Amino acid sequence: MGNGGDTNIVIETTITFSNNILYSTFYFYFNSFIYGCLINFIMDYTQLLKRAREGLPEIVSVRERFEVPKVKGHLQGNRTVISNFSMICSTLRRQPQHILKYLLKELATSGEIKNNLLVFNRKLSSLAINQKVRQYTNMYVLCTECGKPDTKILIEGNISYLKCQACGAKHHIKN
Ligand SMILES: [Zn+2]
Repeated sequence: MGNGGDTNIVIETTITFSNNILYSTFYFYFNSFIYGCLINFIMDYTQLLKRAREGLPEIVSVRERFEVPKVKGHLQGNRTVISNFSMICSTLRRQPQHILKYLLKELATSGEIKNNLLVFNRKLSSLAINQKVRQYTNMYVLCTECGKPDTKILIEGNISYLKCQACGAKHHIKN
């Protein structure tokens, strides 16, 4: 009898003891988890603040990853000759005639594509041409939703659309 009672006490003590260990283990991991969450939250928040301070919303940084090509060229008398026009067209993945039409209208000049060179019949600064290439890219290449350049121009009837192959967005563009 006496022996049995002793065994019961020992068992009870062991159970209480292991419960205490369980509780402290649980609290230890629970606290670690909470601290972990807090630290992650603070880090995320710091990142957010940093981004806000730099004034760079997500979409803009995505856009900036795609580099709009810069023109290379020279003046020839009263003309401006762009030597890397075909590279620009292939980077933007647009028809040379489509880009040419836009640039001529925007830069208020006549011009043509001759032996892979783009020739404007006017003296133009590379700054002005680059600005128009960037405008064209924003209008006819980059998706307004996700900012990626993986887009196609769709023509339905008389209306043109820019269809994004990355996110599926589709929006109306000028012809
Ligand atoms: Zn998109």
